[in-house]
Amino acid sequence: MTEDTHTDTLRTPIVAVLGHVDHGKTSLLDEIRGSAVSEAEAGAITQHIGATDIPLDTISRMAGELVIPDDFDLPGLLFIDTPGHHSFSTLRARGGALADIAVLVVDVNDGFQPQTEEAIDILRRTGTPFVVAANKIDTTPGWNPQEGEPIQRSMEAQSERAMSMLNENLYEIIGQLSDAGFSADLYWRVQDFQKNIGVVPVSAITAEGVPDLLAVLMGLSQRFMKEEMAIDVNGPGEGTVLEVKDERGFGATVDTVVYDGVIENGDEIVVGGQEEPIVTEVRALLQPRPLAEIRTEKQFEKVASVGAAAGVKIAAPDLDDAMAGAPVRVVRDKPLDDAIAEVKAELAEIEVDTAEDGVVVKADTLGSLEAMANALREAEVPIMRAEVGDVAPRDIAITETANQEEHKALLAFNVDILPNAETELESADVKLFTNDVIYQLIEDYETYVEERQRAQQETVLDKVVRPSRFRLLPDHTFRQNDPAVVGVEIIAGTLQNNRSVGYFEGNEFHRVGSLSGIQKQGDDVDEARSGERVSIAIDGPTVGRDIEEGDTLWTEVPEKHAKILEQELKEEITADEREALAGYLDTRRKRDPFWGK
Ligand code: GDP
Repeated sequence: MTEDTHTDTLRTPIVAVLGHVDHGKTSLLDEIRGSAVSEAEAGAITQHIGATDIPLDTISRMAGELVIPDDFDLPGLLFIDTPGHHSFSTLRARGGALADIAVLVVDVNDGFQPQTEEAIDILRRTGTPFVVAANKIDTTPGWNPQEGEPIQRSMEAQSERAMSMLNENLYEIIGQLSDAGFSADLYWRVQDFQKNIGVVPVSAITAEGVPDLLAVLMGLSQRFMKEEMAIDVNGPGEGTVLEVKDERGFGATVDTVVYDGVIENGDEIVVGGQEEPIVTEVRALLQPRPLAEIRTEKQFEKVASVGAAAGVKIAAPDLDDAMAGAPVRVVRDKPLDDAIAEVKAELAEIEVDTAEDGVVVKADTLGSLEAMANALREAEVPIMRAEVGDVAPRDIAITETANQEEHKALLAFNVDILPNAETELESADVKLFTNDVIYQLIEDYETYVEERQRAQQETVLDKVVRPSRFRLLPDHTFRQNDPAVVGVEIIAGTLQNNRSVGYFEGNEFHRVGSLSGIQKQGDDVDEARSGERVSIAIDGPTVGRDIEEGDTLWTEVPEKHAKILEQELKEEITADEREALAGYLDTRRKRDPFWGK
């Protein structure tokens, strides 16, 4: 087999941990790292920046009989230290996800939560294989903990009652996965990991099931990713910026995950920047000092080169404008222009479709910017501009140029508001939204828009002339004219004071005068509703000449108001107002079919 001749060039698969807040991502990573350090022979665990590399033989010690080193030729697993889908989507490589495989952590008691759904969406979109760690099994009532044991052995030690509770929870999660479109089962029942998602019951606290989790991760990578892991170890390095950080003595540095080739001290590199790709030269490659030397003054040690997969801090001039999530390319034997073009092409893929009018988005990384853009597209919110970086005065000025009031909104994800931008905000007609959870940020904005629209409708509703139909009651003429005072019953709608009223003759509307008072049981009121009997004063007509007892009159609704009522406020007005409006419009339109349209 040709593959076997390449064994020395298989790189470590990169593993990301995702899941809802508090479901145990950090604890699980800590448990895996902690037990790796204690299981490893001294010096076997290499320190990385932003990632932990666990070699195969350490994994084998941790997993016991579940991982036999001879069955594998991948060198181990590289866990990205920052869990969560935020860093997952930040870490891209050649347009896809940087992580080769993911662990979706789900609290076995809580099941799917909003960020679980978000994580699933991202995993689906990026086509990343994943396993589900059903965490916190030790919290099952009556649980009998079996520190560090494989799950089967731990389950044998449980009471029937505890097992039935756990199983119920596990099947709940399997059901939720199926609702999300993934066929899943407990991992030992899965025949084909390419078709089915394996669920591994674990505890980050007692480490039960952790051997199984490692075994599944190793097995999945070995079986389905071996080809992708085959790399040219001497090729020009390719990586992704995890974070841009100022470091004393080095200036701006980029913490980078290298996923292909090798990066050497002195290499010319191209890094994605805010405006243009940055071309610079590696001054130092830094890795954390081994634990044994932690007491020395300096935090980092310089290394001559770093091969994939690895996390490394790159110190080089001009990195201030580098962006988290941006590509890093070693130039070496290819033309510089090609490297620049590659970086540009990768950045262009992330470019957000913008509209002439829309909201402004700021995000901390390219990946989160892209995630924001996707979420906004789904919510049908147009974007006028989307950029990586903190909120600066310029952003406020741009937001203010939006045409629609509801678009004068700045959605800031996981970034700081610069002090001079804060001052600007106080006087600007701009609404700022900040949150470090994407769906909440968008929900906040949507709630704001809805409230605005409701408030607007309410003000319009206050001003608009309400329709009404009412009848002059027999024997209730209190005054003939100047003004005419008559008793009426409202048949439909709302009769408001100060409105013009009239009647239809055929299909022609005749105005008879305007209301100058409404009295209900002797009290002055502003309006009378359907079914009420009130006395009204009408300036203009004379009873017995212009109007008669028993006549039906209408509030005169101006054409513009009728249109707004019919087209915009239909849901806001009452059923009997709608009825009065319909009758009024019907008659008007018999004469002029386009009236109020
Ligand atoms: P994250 O927000 O997903 O990173 O969650 P954390 O790792 O911070 O865990 C949240 C809380 O759950 C912490 O109080 C942990 O101690 C606790 N926790 C995490 N995993 C387990 C577990 O397996 N069993 C128990 N009993 N508690 C856990």
